[in-house]
Amino acid sequence: MRETIAFDTKQIPYLESILSGLPNCVMIVGRDLQAINCSFAGLSVLGVSSFAELPQGAPGTCVAEGHRPFFNEAMLSAFDVRPNMDIEPFEVKLEFPDGRSMLALCNLAPLANPQGNVDAVMISFQDLTALRTTESKLDRANSILKSILTTIPDAMIVIDEDGLVSSFSATAEKMFGYDQEEIIGKNVKVLMPEPYRAAHDGYIERYIETNEKRIIGIGRTVVGCRKDGTTFPLQLEVGEAKIGDERYFTGFIIDLTEKKQTEAELQSLQADLAHASRLSAVGTLASALAHEINQPLTAIANYLSAARDMVDGDLAENRELFREALQESVSESLRAGTIVRRLREFVSRGEINRRVLSIAQVVEDASVLGLIGAQEKGVQFSIDIAPDTNHVFVDRVQIQQVMVNLMRNAIEAMADSVTKNLHIGVTSIDDDRVEIAVSDSGSGIDQELGHRLFDPFASTKGDGMGLGLSICRTIIEAHGGTIGVEPNPEGGTIFRITLEKAGQEQDDEQ
Ligand code: ADP
Repeated sequence: MRETIAFDTKQIPYLESILSGLPNCVMIVGRDLQAINCSFAGLSVLGVSSFAELPQGAPGTCVAEGHRPFFNEAMLSAFDVRPNMDIEPFEVKLEFPDGRSMLALCNLAPLANPQGNVDAVMISFQDLTALRTTESKLDRANSILKSILTTIPDAMIVIDEDGLVSSFSATAEKMFGYDQEEIIGKNVKVLMPEPYRAAHDGYIERYIETNEKRIIGIGRTVVGCRKDGTTFPLQLEVGEAKIGDERYFTGFIIDLTEKKQTEAELQSLQADLAHASRLSAVGTLASALAHEINQPLTAIANYLSAARDMVDGDLAENRELFREALQESVSESLRAGTIVRRLREFVSRGEINRRVLSIAQVVEDASVLGLIGAQEKGVQFSIDIAPDTNHVFVDRVQIQQVMVNLMRNAIEAMADSVTKNLHIGVTSIDDDRVEIAVSDSGSGIDQELGHRLFDPFASTKGDGMGLGLSICRTIIEAHGGTIGVEPNPEGGTIFRITLEKAGQEQDDEQ
């Protein structure tokens, strides 16, 4: 309840000093609505330095024309109210002679004399401009934030440093199955499955203590937990904002479920294609393959029939030869077995399965298949594996497929060559990479093919699909490597593949 002040300036000896010290624009107005007195702050608000300089008819003349009738009416009625009555504050726009304007909250207090009659009214103007600007900025910021939260396609979640959710976008509602009201004020860890749920508070605490950024500004693929308990992969980008002393974290989330599915579908498509191409490679090898397996089988048959003859004769005398025949049969059957086993692995569908393997082993194994039928065609094969080439992190069957492809192409390219040299060299190019070079002394790459060499369906062969090299490139690039081609200075072609060496981490994973 506001005090009603008895109006007699003489009886209020401190009025002048009160008015000089008041931080607001305060005026005392008489019944004629003319200012009788004004606080220092008021004079400076009105742009004058002394009371005498106040604009004629102030304060009414300082009120914007549109607001003036209402202001005058409020002033007049203030003289009519009973003392001690509160008058509702109201807003007016003030306009000053120097062109400035100000939105002000106007408070009126009737001042009664000792007889109880209102002789004057005290009026104070409180500048609302700054307040309104801040309010409207806040309103604007709020409505922008609201529209962002309802429209951004990514889910957005804002949490404070205790992990409590303060904003939850419409997409986040759909993604996690929670309504905003259910989640605001709750700890964000409910959106994660264990063990992340239990660890999350610790992550924030550690960050606040150490300032070490493990996710902020970096982004991660993590796992989210929906309201129904199901989990899904998501990409999380976290930002940080400081408002005063308070710290907030904003999280943008993209649901990766579909992307992962597409990736998996693509990978399985690719695996299917590679598989089909391996099958067709083996198909074209069928007769050479039969020959390759027939050879050890024939040898075994020969050795065994010789052994049988020895049993019929003097076994004691032929004991050494008998043993040799059996030993040869064993190694020939192992040879046939190796070919069949490699072949079976090669044509198996198999998931892509990258492991740390010795590059020497992978290349040597691939040569067994790549060279099927080569000897009969007069191909001279040599292989050179540097001792420091170490291990690679690869899918064995896929890298073998690449090798077999390059070797078969090389052998075909040498069909009409006088010298038929096929050489494989494995070297270490630097700390991180090894190179496999497949060189032949064949026809060289057809000029027409040019840079289309690695494109699908680029073939110069009547019965060629032109898929081999494109599959090779896909496989090598999926392994983080490169594949290129160059003319062999000695005539023919060199294909070069680089592969990353297995790092310490991958070794540890094994
Ligand atoms: P395809 O063998 O079915 O034609 P590839 O993609 O394996 O499919 O090879 C595409 C083309 O590249 C071949 O048709 C051939 O013209 C050329 N090529 C591949 N390797 C060699 C090579 N070592 N020497 C010469 N030309 C080659």
